[in-house]
Amino acid sequence: MKNLAEKYHAGQTRQGEGYIPYIVHPRDVAETLISWGEKEDSPLIEMAWGHDLLEDTAVTEQEILAVSSERVLNGIKMLTHAGNVDKAAYLQSVADSGNRDVLLVKISDRICNTNDFVILKGDLYAYNYMHKADCLIPALEKISDDPVVQNALKTWKDLNYTLREKALHDAIRGCLLGGAVGDALGAPIEFLPQRSIEKLYGTVDDYVEYTDGTGRITDDTQMTLFTAEGILRAHVRGKERGICSPESIVKFAYLRWLETQRITPDAPEDFINSGWLIKEKDLFVTRAPGSTCISALIRGKQRAENNSKGCGTVMRMAPVGLFFDPVAAYEYGCKFSAITHGHPTGITAGGAFAMLISYLRKGTPLKRSLELVQAHLRKYPEAAETLAALEHAETAENITELGEGWVAEEALAIAVFCVLRHQWDFKAGIIEAINITGDSDSTGSIAGNILGLLNGEKAIPEKWLSNLREHRIVSQVSDDLFRRFESNSEGHVSEDWWNKYPGF
Ligand SMILES: [Mg+2]
Repeated sequence: MKNLAEKYHAGQTRQGEGYIPYIVHPRDVAETLISWGEKEDSPLIEMAWGHDLLEDTAVTEQEILAVSSERVLNGIKMLTHAGNVDKAAYLQSVADSGNRDVLLVKISDRICNTNDFVILKGDLYAYNYMHKADCLIPALEKISDDPVVQNALKTWKDLNYTLREKALHDAIRGCLLGGAVGDALGAPIEFLPQRSIEKLYGTVDDYVEYTDGTGRITDDTQMTLFTAEGILRAHVRGKERGICSPESIVKFAYLRWLETQRITPDAPEDFINSGWLIKEKDLFVTRAPGSTCISALIRGKQRAENNSKGCGTVMRMAPVGLFFDPVAAYEYGCKFSAITHGHPTGITAGGAFAMLISYLRKGTPLKRSLELVQAHLRKYPEAAETLAALEHAETAENITELGEGWVAEEALAIAVFCVLRHQWDFKAGIIEAINITGDSDSTGSIAGNILGLLNGEKAIPEKWLSNLREHRIVSQVSDDLFRRFESNSEGHVSEDWWNKYPGF
């Protein structure tokens, strides 16, 4: 069977960087089974070598029979995914077969592919791919007095355990880097109507602002970074003192952002010049910041007294959903929004976005997450406008129906509209979100947060990442948000972490 597989897979390549002959895959599937204790000369190993032959090559059933047996041929037939059958239904049919050979080859195949996807497409993609085959597990558990099956289940469990944390880390990096990239791509066309964008650039699908081809974040990502910093500093305070009000600590984080805009806030010196983020020179740049944020922070109240619903709330809330569970994310999203914006829609749109990010981070599918956010918004009469905009995002036929994104609920709706249309295509979703008449950097930033969270860092075009000037800063904040806290041997916050994120 090995020879037959080598003959028919000859010339075929495996998805990947450079030339990888296809035959390495059936070989890996067979070797994995052998590592679990299967005998090298068993029919199962023949089936592993031949498992893709009927699906991917011109081999005939007679040729397979000539080198093996009826049992092996039947197994390969059960493992063949007919093009017209839905993938989930196919996996379910493999599970329902209850056939030891078929189940073991399939689980080995899935584990080998998952390990390949870690390299090719990142931890989050690999983790999601792996779990599409969850239906195999109960079927294998039914026959788990078999030692090879026991080893297969153990490998699956170990892989799940190591990948789960890595997938979360990948999702958090994807979320913040994705938002930063969308922000930087949209920045130069923020104030241009769609027809001017078209005339000047055709479609913007790369950084067009600087001649060296780099991109630079704006206030959207700057404030997102300070939101994350505030949350981490509040977490330190909570750990050390047991009591804290995150909204007052986040307000000081926003005052540090104000300092980067060259407006010295009315606050004690060590509140402003502490931590690492304020020392990053690249953040000291004015990139068309929202006037509402600036004037509210100059006044310095815990709750803004204006009636603005500009999108300056929603665009900065992703870290809230990355850190808190959904209901808390909604509440803190609203509270952090209220620091700068007084209108209920500005506030609830910030809460809704934080809640959406939180559900998605927990692995809830996109449409279900949107339903859960909408159900939550229905409890609050002041959230009616935000709710209506989110509903509209799901039914709109044309993006222009949703407005221009200058106000919070519109920016959120436009981003959600683009994500729904390009859920698994980061690049296409961002291009649609920024090439609009309106607030392109904010819609790009919000869509980038969601698409990056769903698809992971590797889904972001490499060129966009490597040409992003603040890549290192956004990366660092993402990694810290993943870690949340670093303790010393006594269980207290470590000195390094305190210096980075002092608890005030
Ligand atoms: Mg901006």
